[in-house]
Amino acid sequence: MELSENEKKSWKQKYPLLEPITNLEPTLWLNPNLKEEQYIPELPLTKKDMYEAEKLWKRFAPFFKKAFPELEITNGYIESPLKSIGKLKPVLEDYYDFNIDGNLYLKSDNELPIAGSIKARGGFYEVLHYAEKLAIENGLITYDGNYEAFLSEEFRSFFQQYSIGVGSTGNLGLSIGTMSATLGFNVAVYMSADAKQWKKDLLREKGANVYEYSGDFSEAIYAGRQETIADPKGYFVDDESSKHLFLGYSVAALRLEKQLEEMDIKVDADNPLFLYLPCGVGGSPGGITFGMKQLFGDHVHCFFVEPTHSPSVLIGLLTGEKDRISVQDFGIDNLTEADGLAVGRPSSFATSISEHLISGIYTVEDDELYKMLTMLADNENIYVEPSATAGLIGPKHVLESVYTEKYNINTDNATHIAWSTGGDLVPEFDMKQFYEKGKSFLV
Ligand SMILES: *Cc1c(COP(=O)(O)O)cnc(C)c1O
Repeated sequence: MELSENEKKSWKQKYPLLEPITNLEPTLWLNPNLKEEQYIPELPLTKKDMYEAEKLWKRFAPFFKKAFPELEITNGYIESPLKSIGKLKPVLEDYYDFNIDGNLYLKSDNELPIAGSIKARGGFYEVLHYAEKLAIENGLITYDGNYEAFLSEEFRSFFQQYSIGVGSTGNLGLSIGTMSATLGFNVAVYMSADAKQWKKDLLREKGANVYEYSGDFSEAIYAGRQETIADPKGYFVDDESSKHLFLGYSVAALRLEKQLEEMDIKVDADNPLFLYLPCGVGGSPGGITFGMKQLFGDHVHCFFVEPTHSPSVLIGLLTGEKDRISVQDFGIDNLTEADGLAVGRPSSFATSISEHLISGIYTVEDDELYKMLTMLADNENIYVEPSATAGLIGPKHVLESVYTEKYNINTDNATHIAWSTGGDLVPEFDMKQFYEKGKSFLV
């Protein structure tokens, strides 16, 4: 419920940055609770958990290879390329009037197979983890068995007794719905009002039950949770507090580490790495940050980015209230075209881990997302959804701030990676509209 004017005023006195945030101005917040590696308090997850999660993907590789022919060439692994975007870089610098020290790359999760978004990491992982647990507990398979069996009639009819539910603004539902239906689960997706029609249509096509809610994401989650757990064999994928989603995302760090090595990109004190991660509830950027910090410690600098209309993790961390506070409490409407980021209240699990690991958060206006979408298309021939472009403006915010000076970082040889989080499944018609909109803002 919205705070009273007096309550808002006292929050703003305590945290003056809330003034521009509630005025919906693009803002950069540097995290005063960022801890050096050696001072990071004990976290609820460890590096070992991340390596265990990677092993699950490995066990399921034969399953993926058989279920999805497009994964034949990657041997059943789901991964996206890291791309240099050297043609876009001078265009961004020119348009936004700044200089990027070092190189700019795009981590192209918009190309992740099957789900077309970063949700292939967390969403698929959680469904597979649950399916594996059920199969092992019921004596259907062992950890060293051939996981192609997950596609057999025996497994399908076994999973048909169980149901999986999820609340989603769109992409999470797509990933959970697709993977659950592939395995034979009954799956229900509870969508918020801003979820795109084509995402609902696609899910229904895949055999998922789609329920639409007139309110925002939190309402869809609430309703979905109640409905799902009413079934004794129901399992709810809870974006507001899921450890499994988080671990699925964290594996991206191990993959990126390998790609950096292969591309001969160094990460150390003289070669700092900056990541710019689009943020909704904070699960995907939090999981990736957790993983990258485990691998690169103080040499990696992770910034989240949220829409000016949905700065939920920003307000949660700035005030220290985390999931106890929402953007609506401050009268912010949570209305944005970046549907993957349209979240009013942060994840409790992810946010408590990100608290000491992230360097900061900046916000971006929807119009800029469209502009960058069109610039990326025109200069690199890469088409992504509006949410996915948010990281591209990161270097400007960070390099123009006191951050590098404060932490004494030499950025001459910096590597900047904007994480592109979704886009491949967007229908051509919708993509054309995104593009045209960006074009119209650029003239
Ligand atoms: C879900 C999503 C994000 C953010 O992930 P969270 O876990 O919600 O923070 C970013 N971009 C896209 C396209 C997404 O679908």
